[in-house]
Amino acid sequence: MSNFAWLSFLLFSLFVVGCAVGSFLNVCIYRMATERSISWPGSHCGACVRPISSWYNIPLLTYLWLGGRCARCGARFSIRYFLVELLTGVVFVGLFAVEVGSNWQQAWTGSGWEALQWGQFPPDVVPYYLAHIFLACLLIVAVGTLADGADVPPAVVIAGALGGFGFAWIYPNFMLAGSPALFAVWLVPVVARLTRTDRSGADVALVAGGFLGWQPVAVALVAAALIPGSCLGLRLALLLPIVWLGWPLRAWLLHPAALVVLLMLVLWSTQRRETTDNSSPRI
Ligand SMILES: [Zn+2]
Repeated sequence: MSNFAWLSFLLFSLFVVGCAVGSFLNVCIYRMATERSISWPGSHCGACVRPISSWYNIPLLTYLWLGGRCARCGARFSIRYFLVELLTGVVFVGLFAVEVGSNWQQAWTGSGWEALQWGQFPPDVVPYYLAHIFLACLLIVAVGTLADGADVPPAVVIAGALGGFGFAWIYPNFMLAGSPALFAVWLVPVVARLTRTDRSGADVALVAGGFLGWQPVAVALVAAALIPGSCLGLRLALLLPIVWLGWPLRAWLLHPAALVVLLMLVLWSTQRRETTDNSSPRI
């Protein structure tokens, strides 16, 4: 198999696995938001309660084939099922390309693509990638349940806190500085106190702290607090990937010119907020 065919096969496989995981995340979001068991019963239609056979449970394809409807009763499923499956597949491939292929975070020296061409994985990169995939899955479930108006499920908070702590413990060389997991555990109760009205921000910070280190989480938290909106956790969960991907650029962002632009953006957004506050309601 040529190098190109092997790499395409690898990325396509990751996409397929990602979509299948996304299908499971859909179930998690729906059932955890309504406090149901995620293991029992099996996939079923919410309208006619009849089980969905595995033949009709193929991610993305079934939704397109059946036009987003139940094969038995024709009830319409939300487009969100399709989007979450697609997003998870894209995240599996995208994170691999960014963190393993291009080595964007400079987690080790050298290029990932070069090693991958010859079927070799850079050292320690598999646990690094899998840990961040695990975090991405937890964040997708957190965003889904918060968007539904529920809390971040306790199972997600516990899995994130323990998983992140374990990851930081075993692979301290992938963290940014110090003992970040411990710092994150300390940071979260402080945040929870500061944002007494909204616990979701502390929940999401606890989930991500050990995986990313406290620094990106703290920056994302401050940014999330500056952006207007009702749910802090939702804003934090959406900003975390952006801050994490932008982290290698932080030296540029601290450039005086960049700070001036940032200041102008903040001023502009506060001014805009005032104008919208004074407007009369549209009836
Ligand atoms: Zn049905």
